[in-house]
Amino acid sequence: MSTQHLQTELPGPKARALIARDAAVITPSYPRDYPFVMSHGCGSEAWDVDGNRFLDFAAGIAVCSTGHAHPQVVAAIREAAGKFLHISSDYWHEGMVALAERLARIAPWDEPAMSFFCQSGTEAVEGALKLARYVSGRSRFIGFLGGFHGRTMGSLAFTSSKYTQQKGFAPTMPGVTHVPYPNAFRPLFTGADQGRAVLDYIRMLFDRSVPPSEVAAILIEPIQGEGGYLVPPQGFLAGLRALCDEHGILLVFDEVQSGVGRTGKMFASEHFAVAPDIVTLAKGLGSGMPIGAVVAKRRIMQQWKRGAHGNTFGGNPIVCAAANATLDLVTQEYAANAAQMGEHFMARLRDLARRYPCIGEVRGRGLMIGIELIEPGAERAPARALVDAVINRAYHNGLLLLSCGVSTVRFMPPLCVSAAQVDEAIELLRASLDQALAKANA
Ligand code: PLP
Repeated sequence: MSTQHLQTELPGPKARALIARDAAVITPSYPRDYPFVMSHGCGSEAWDVDGNRFLDFAAGIAVCSTGHAHPQVVAAIREAAGKFLHISSDYWHEGMVALAERLARIAPWDEPAMSFFCQSGTEAVEGALKLARYVSGRSRFIGFLGGFHGRTMGSLAFTSSKYTQQKGFAPTMPGVTHVPYPNAFRPLFTGADQGRAVLDYIRMLFDRSVPPSEVAAILIEPIQGEGGYLVPPQGFLAGLRALCDEHGILLVFDEVQSGVGRTGKMFASEHFAVAPDIVTLAKGLGSGMPIGAVVAKRRIMQQWKRGAHGNTFGGNPIVCAAANATLDLVTQEYAANAAQMGEHFMARLRDLARRYPCIGEVRGRGLMIGIELIEPGAERAPARALVDAVINRAYHNGLLLLSCGVSTVRFMPPLCVSAAQVDEAIELLRASLDQALAKANA
């Protein structure tokens, strides 16, 4: 293991000083896992204020899709900023229309699309919920346990990856019924096909307590993110599509985390060849600039009447410029790189899993990859403490990681990551596993 890129103990003196200032003036509600204080970044590497170099396999929670400070994105931002910083969505400008045209071209269905722009994932989800209620005249929704859709009162009603996110905020938006997300590693239902079992469960709800004629939409992450990087079984999303078609229910895919090339395709839904009616985007779309988008089939979004939904900052010229540059890079190069690097990374992780019995499963698509850590024994008991220890050791070894789900370490490097950087991350991960396991067994 190489830690030559580390110049100081961690956190270093400058990081400690900034964290002390932060503690006095910034909310303690941010869920921060370790004391990384950023100075600057380049591609998949980041430096802290004490001059220590890190491999960034968290990418600002899957946001820095084109890497830190990609020159093409920075140039687009600079050029846009030199013209005007804001005009508001009450007016028109080239960058906003060009972005919507691009999104219409790549939307994951074969018909015209329209977009609504906002600043974040949660606002995109709120927009999708409002659109679904507005056009259907129905009030109920189906969501999935383990889902994460944001922290405002509508999206929070669906968010159920950790109870701390809901605790203290009830009541959130009424009308949401949660069903399990199919999980073959920790099956909830008897039988091999967890996807079919969940579809049967929804049908049972339709019969007994959630009349489908009252359901506006089913909201799902086509690959579940914060809930554990869970990939649904083939056939499941197609089954949901069929259920929606049967009952006139809208199918909304939340691709805030999985979209924009992250899984090796522009949208995760493409892995399953299932088209939603509405897709929500944010995170990687702006390479770090705050943007969210509701992209819907035109025949659905054009039903919104003037004033039905809007905002001040949506379609901001700087973020649209960043998103246009990001989509150029992802389309031309980085979605393909994510697919290729993802395969290499998964193969290296599977090698590691053969040597470390605590790695219960390696799963994901493209560069949305998770390893599930388990306690010894056949029960596959979640090794939560080990996940925390590995992530902490990884930081001390110069690798930025985050957790998700019950006991998953997740990897979401920038889509421009190289094979050499993946290999370096594997070595740092291996060292971190060794250190965490040695401590656990001491
Ligand atoms: N939807 C998904 C799938 C997410 O992963 C997230 C954030 O992690 C959100 C929505 C909320 O996005 P934001 O934090 O930008 O509001």
